[in-house]
Amino acid sequence: MTEHESVRAMLALAAAGALDPEEVRRVEQHAQGCERCRRDLETWAVYTRGLRKLPQPSAPEGLVQRTQARILQERAGAAARRRSELFLGALAIFGWVAGWSFWTLARAVTGGSLNVLGANLMNGLTWSLVSTALVWMTAATAALMLGRRREMRRFL
Ligand SMILES: [Zn+2]
Repeated sequence: MTEHESVRAMLALAAAGALDPEEVRRVEQHAQGCERCRRDLETWAVYTRGLRKLPQPSAPEGLVQRTQARILQERAGAAARRRSELFLGALAIFGWVAGWSFWTLARAVTGGSLNVLGANLMNGLTWSLVSTALVWMTAATAALMLGRRREMRRFL
């Protein structure tokens, strides 16, 4: 890259006052001997002065505080969701362990046979189907209750 090309790349920054003193000196020194760069530097200076006269957009009152509050609220929500997920995972594991333990205990107490409506509940497959159906109904009820609670919080 020649000195001319290098200086041309800095003309807009020089006009905006964004260069360090050494770079400004280099641009000015080159512009003294280069008609094209001098004219372009003057053009950029006109643009810069014009831009400074334009009304500057201002941020609405309290935007920073509202944004910070929203970020903190979102972080708290994410942490609460993470805790809920962990709790639900622990609850699922507890449910499986409790179900299996109760089945083992019930088999020992009943001697492996408990007929209800013609089906042996102590059969592994029957026990799995009945307990799965009960778990799904319980989960659906819990989801409905949590959904209603969340809806009520929105209104408050
Ligand atoms: Zn030049």
